[in-house]
Amino acid sequence: KYSENIPIKGNDEIAQLGNSIQLLGEQLQYFEKSRNEFLAAVSHELRTPLTYIKGYSDILLKGNIYSVTDQENYLKIINKEASRISFLVNDLFEMSKLQIGEFELNKEKAMINMLIEKVVSNLEPAARKKGIEIKREYQTDLPAIPIDVHRMEQVFYNLIENAIKYSIQGEITVRSYLKNEFVIIEIKDSGIGIPSDELPKIWERFYRVDQSRTRKTGGTGLGLYVVKQIIESHSGNIVVSSVENEGSTFIIFLKL
Ligand code: ADP
Repeated sequence: KYSENIPIKGNDEIAQLGNSIQLLGEQLQYFEKSRNEFLAAVSHELRTPLTYIKGYSDILLKGNIYSVTDQENYLKIINKEASRISFLVNDLFEMSKLQIGEFELNKEKAMINMLIEKVVSNLEPAARKKGIEIKREYQTDLPAIPIDVHRMEQVFYNLIENAIKYSIQGEITVRSYLKNEFVIIEIKDSGIGIPSDELPKIWERFYRVDQSRTRKTGGTGLGLYVVKQIIESHSGNIVVSSVENEGSTFIIFLKL
């Protein structure tokens, strides 16, 4: 705790200043708390893969594993866990740039459909591998809108990658259309869905629904947090609706 609150009487400038300082103190306490929670979450996220890497490399170094398949399996685990750390560090880097406001939006007028299509065609092979079909429903006469192309590409990438990751099969529909003063982009999947009580939490840093069900899919729980930050920095909005075992729809609203 920074300080005890001192009761402030009166309405003059000094009292107003006192009030502002007290408010500032409360905000600092809030940030301090969320920073600590954040550091705890990062340490926790790093510890798990590091434990695997340390453990399996120790076994391999002892040199008494004779089966080549065992050796290969251990190396595969080490490799997979190292990738996890690498994803985590990349996401953290993106996030830190978002947080310190260092990231400046590099806006240029862009054709949103072309950007979406770039991501869709990149991810299509991964979808096909799982027997998932990606359907395009682009409104063709959308006007160009000012966006940070690189960041927005990351938004679509994260959302479509999730749609594939959290589907077993079925289809994904990517739609874009104009309504009132908004360009709207929808990414709809027929995947495992999200329980309604979890829905508000998925935007939080490191939040993953039901660790056991998502552990095997890999991921850091930072993707949607980054997505939301980027959309909001464009003065846009993103919402989700989802039904467990039926699928999820993420909807982005961008002002013209
Ligand atoms: P992750 O790296 O775990 O995918 P995200 O921040 O992208 O992190 O998503 C947070 C959590 O929200 C995921 O762990 C998953 O449980 C849930 N989620 C996100 N997208 C979907 C989706 N399309 N279908 C079902 N669950 C999803």
